[in-house]
Order: sequence, then C-alpha cells, then structure tokens
Amino acid sequence: MKDSQLIRYSRHILLPEIEYEGQQKLLDSHCLIIGAGGLGSPVSMYLAASGIGKLTICDFDKVDLSNLQRQLLHNQDSLGMNKSLSAKKNLEKINSDIEIISITKKLDVKKMEELSKNANIIIDCSDNFKTRYALNQIAFNQRKPLVSGAAIKFDGQVSIYDFRDSNSPCYNCLFPNTDEELEVRCADHGVFSPLVGIIGACQAAEAMKLLLNIGKSLNGHLLLIDQKELKWRLLTIKKDKNCLVCSR
Ligand SMILES: [Zn+2]
Repeated sequence: MKDSQLIRYSRHILLPEIEYEGQQKLLDSHCLIIGAGGLGSPVSMYLAASGIGKLTICDFDKVDLSNLQRQLLHNQDSLGMNKSLSAKKNLEKINSDIEIISITKKLDVKKMEELSKNANIIIDCSDNFKTRYALNQIAFNQRKPLVSGAAIKFDGQVSIYDFRDSNSPCYNCLFPNTDEELEVRCADHGVFSPLVGIIGACQAAEAMKLLLNIGKSLNGHLLLIDQKELKWRLLTIKKDKNCLVCSR
C-alpha cells in the first residue's frame, strides 16, 4: 500500500477486524455489480470508497430526471448519459486508486457468466426477476457468493446465497420461478428514497464482510425491512429439497 492509501484507509486499518491485511484483501478483490440505479448507487459508492480494488458495473439504461430522487450516484450533469458510464465518472471522483469497468450493453446470460467468472462476489442490484433468476443460476454454477437486494414502496429485503457452501439455499428456493410475469416496478409503485440507501448499504456491508470473512454472514437468511413501521425482521431460509436450481 502507498502512503496515500494508508491515510485513505486508516479508519479501516484501525479496526482490529480489518487491519492492514484486511484492507489489502479488499484492494485485491473484484466485485461485479449488476445495476447502477437505486441499489447500485450506495453499493458502488461504498465499495469504491472502501477500496475494493476492482469494480465491474453493468447498466444499459440512461440517467433520467425521475432517477435523481434516489440514485445518488448520478447527478444533473449525467442526465441522458448511460448509467454505467455516469457511475464510472462519478466513482473515479470518490476514488481514483481503484479500477472501474463499465459495461453499457444489455447483458445476456453468456455475458453475465463471463463477467462473473472474474469476480469474487456478485451483487444483484437489478430491478427484474429475469436477471435475479439468471444471476442465481450463474452464481450457483460457479460456486460464487451472491448478494441480493430489492426495494419497493417502503419495503426492502437483503439476502446472501453463498454457493461456496453446498448447503446454502438459493434465490429460487425462496421464490420459485413460475415463469409468470410478476414484475413490481418502482416506475409503477414508487419507492421511498432513503430505503434504497439502507438496502444498498446493507448489501455493500455484507459483501465486504464476506470478502474479509468477518462477523455473522447473512447466508441462509432473509432480512426484511419495513421502513414505514420501522420493523426489521431476520428470517431463516431453508434449502428446498426439490429446488430446480440447487437440488438437482
Ligand atoms: Zn434452491
């Protein structure tokens, strides 16, 4: 680590759970972030500031005025710009020490597989079930940890499927894919701005804990947040013996 990095990351290095070695681990890590919107904003901002050495950020969408209410990674200067390019531009202002790769094209399964092969952790910040199921299958196939998050209205959830552990349940155990169109979108229902910050910050924290191998993992659990009533609940997820993804 350079002197400037020792200063930049000093408040991590002071933590006995992290210290120099832990910070070096973060610098040597690579996270794949799918989606640079409401969840992708806090996730990528915290991971960039924390010195995750390499971030790959994917989003094919453009920054729209209606995004700025909650997607703090973007600003008025980014309007009309591709989100992953706007992400790269703004994250480099937070930390120019790290490598940021932006993927601007819509991802097919093959491309997702290729990108996740090179990453230590996959962080799902997408807004649709198709991507969530695809990432779940890919993470399972590649035995990678998947950090999943979602937020709508005042309700949010965070979970981890750590497929390095063969007993881990998967996203499909929790929400079996019925191929029905059940999409619930922010565009139709609205979302409370700070909620995406809370969920995204939780995803970033859990991803970093996995990289550092510290504390209690959310693996096998679902954190449900009702921010309106300020109710946080931690549920245990059981592996479904008949799951079409992880029990074959
Ligand atoms: Zn499963």
